Amino acid sequence: MVAQVIVDVVHTNVAHPFSYLVPEGESVPVGARVSVPLGRRRVDGIVVELLEAPPDGLPPEKLRSIGAMLDDCPALLPPLLDLARELAAQAHCPLAETLRLMLPAAMRTGRVKRKKALYARLMPGVDAEAAAQAQRRAPKRATLLRLLAGGAPRAVKELEPLVHQPREALNALEAAGLIALEEREVFRAPEGEVDAALTQPPEWTPDQREALDAMLPALRRGEGAFLLHGVTGSGKTEVYLAMVAEALRAGRGAIILVPEIALTPQMVRWFRARFGPETAVLHSRLTDGQRCDEWRRIRLGYARVVVGARSAVFAPVENLGLIVIDEEHEQTYLSDKHPRYDARRVAMSRCAREGATLVLSSATPSILSFAMARRGDYTLVEMPRRVRGLPLPEVTVVDMRRELEAGNRSIFSQLLIERLGECLREGRQAMLFLNRRGYNTFVSCRSCGYVVKCERCDLSMTLHREPGGEEPGKLRCHMCGAERTPPTTCPECGSRYIRYFGSGTQRVEEEVRRLFPGVETVRMDIDTTRGRDAHAKLLDRFGRGEAQVLIGTQMIAKGLDFPRVTLVGVVAADMTLNLPDYRAPERTFQLITQVAGRAGRAGLPGEVIVQTYKPEDPCIRAAAAQDYRAFFEREFSRRRAGLYPPFTLLARLLVESPEEETARQTAERLYDVVRTYLLSHPAQKKRTLMLRADEAPVKRIRGQFRYHVLMKLFDHPDASPLLALLAELAGVEDGACTIYCEVNPATMM
Ligand code: ADP
Ligand code: ZN
Ligand code: ZN
Repeated sequence: MVAQVIVDVVHTNVAHPFSYLVPEGESVPVGARVSVPLGRRRVDGIVVELLEAPPDGLPPEKLRSIGAMLDDCPALLPPLLDLARELAAQAHCPLAETLRLMLPAAMRTGRVKRKKALYARLMPGVDAEAAAQAQRRAPKRATLLRLLAGGAPRAVKELEPLVHQPREALNALEAAGLIALEEREVFRAPEGEVDAALTQPPEWTPDQREALDAMLPALRRGEGAFLLHGVTGSGKTEVYLAMVAEALRAGRGAIILVPEIALTPQMVRWFRARFGPETAVLHSRLTDGQRCDEWRRIRLGYARVVVGARSAVFAPVENLGLIVIDEEHEQTYLSDKHPRYDARRVAMSRCAREGATLVLSSATPSILSFAMARRGDYTLVEMPRRVRGLPLPEVTVVDMRRELEAGNRSIFSQLLIERLGECLREGRQAMLFLNRRGYNTFVSCRSCGYVVKCERCDLSMTLHREPGGEEPGKLRCHMCGAERTPPTTCPECGSRYIRYFGSGTQRVEEEVRRLFPGVETVRMDIDTTRGRDAHAKLLDRFGRGEAQVLIGTQMIAKGLDFPRVTLVGVVAADMTLNLPDYRAPERTFQLITQVAGRAGRAGLPGEVIVQTYKPEDPCIRAAAAQDYRAFFEREFSRRRAGLYPPFTLLARLLVESPEEETARQTAERLYDVVRTYLLSHPAQKKRTLMLRADEAPVKRIRGQFRYHVLMKLFDHPDASPLLALLAELAGVEDGACTIYCEVNPATMM
């Protein structure tokens, strides 16, 4: 036999598979990781195909022998191998790169050791009590026999606190043939032991029942792709749990994707409570050891339910029955690292391949997914009511221009201050949302308009200082992290009228503490959540009621379910609305609806106050009315008129260089190359709108100047030769600059 091996070395010269001889009598399955000779080195690789004879007619004796298998079972399941092939074709990159997505990084680099522990177990047929009676002179042995009486193996470590220094006694019992001592693989669990108190499902609401009636039959048949549009608090999680339970009953596994585990600890808790140790968790904050162990638990079939972030879509679940994508509208499902992929598309392809059901779920579906549902790619399932007949929260839009006219210069409107006061007096909780961390958004000169910008990025710097702190604080660049002390006079004109504008989460926190002395607050933004468990600690503190006000960025918009929250304030809705991105209205609608959805989830009525300078904006009005359809129809026609996705594919070539002139000229040269290509391919030219080379929206990042060539493609297939050309142009190494190709990126800066 001849094995075709893709080596784990990313270089264009080794992108194709190499042939190795499988020695007589040995077998190496497809998907196995192996060690192979390459030139004078040994490298790791993955067997992607087995052939009877070398493909290029080479005599087999010329081939080198394949090395040992690196794991005890093939690392890659056949459907995942096919998925890697498909992704490589779509991303125009070597297979070795997409294969990397499928395995934990630490497993490839071999840094993680498998963990073993010594276990003791009673030999079958031994009567523990009788044997203990017989050990009257050796009380330690008697106690140990009684501890092992149940027959289940117990870790020696676990026995140590119960019996002082048990090793000698255990050895004696083993020598007497009463017990067995054995090394077993143990898994580093991300959150310790799972407690055994599994929960029962509640009685379903009529909406939940209808949704399940629509989806469960498809799950049983192993097919179907659904878009579940359920308002906030409609009990979508319970629908996922019921579907997973059904998949497990049929002997199949399930994957639940969530935007970010750290922000949805409640989701993991629900799954663990329902499915116990069958649940595995995969996310970026695990240690290498934990990630590898969870991955192995899944691969070996100990855990058949996976809750994880984007990359968990590649989890090695065998016999997959279901993939659920919670909050499907979140940008985190688009990977921003090479090779880029959209977890929603990958899930769709994986489900079709493996006969599994796909459920995309959201209170605010993305324009793209809702449009696909209308076209029939997904079956639309709706849950328009909250559980237990709870009303959706009341939303009031406050015009901040009026506040200013009335002499209120605070960042809070009169209404928000009043309602916050009432909420706190009644001992309830509030959440304040602001899409900007730090203290002030920017520092500028009132005389000449100078704005303090980062020296390496074309972006204004943000003031950070601790609430109540006396020091002037620090200006920080949110792009590259650079810091400087705020100037006291304008570096351009020398004026002393240098002032702070806008506000961030730190400022909001300080303002709340000033207005309501003695109130405890929790602030959640990137600055307060750097540690491994920081998110969980802050959320727990709020959950236990040790703080009354939770202040945060979009982090607090998702999935949180705190029953005592009755008031939600959106401090500045315009910040998202004014983003330089065609998706700004969509993001604003999603944020307001999602944040508003945090209020009034448990019987206490919820109220939401949205502060804005543009109260008449249709997107803010639709969000206030919580009218998804109105928002969708409007936004859909706007996208059609402006030739934005889903009507086109946005693609760009981005050039970065430390020299502005190099970046500009390279972009212009690329424009010419693409134009020349299109001129000789009229069929493609007709379906492409290309804009002239130009500065990127953020002209400089980390000292790199950025120019781009932007294109809108209509009706191009995935394997479009134009996209292949763009990928090829981006692949060229050129010392003076770096060229990237991006297709429908999550953000375009
Ligand atoms: P969503 O994800 O749709 O916003 P959740 O799944 O978080 O909503 O559910 C909201 C709340 O309703 C949770 O506290 C959940 O325990 C509760 N819940 C869900 N289903 C039911 C039900 N059938 N009966 C009573 N309470 C329910
Ligand atoms: Zn000035
Ligand atoms: Zn910077």
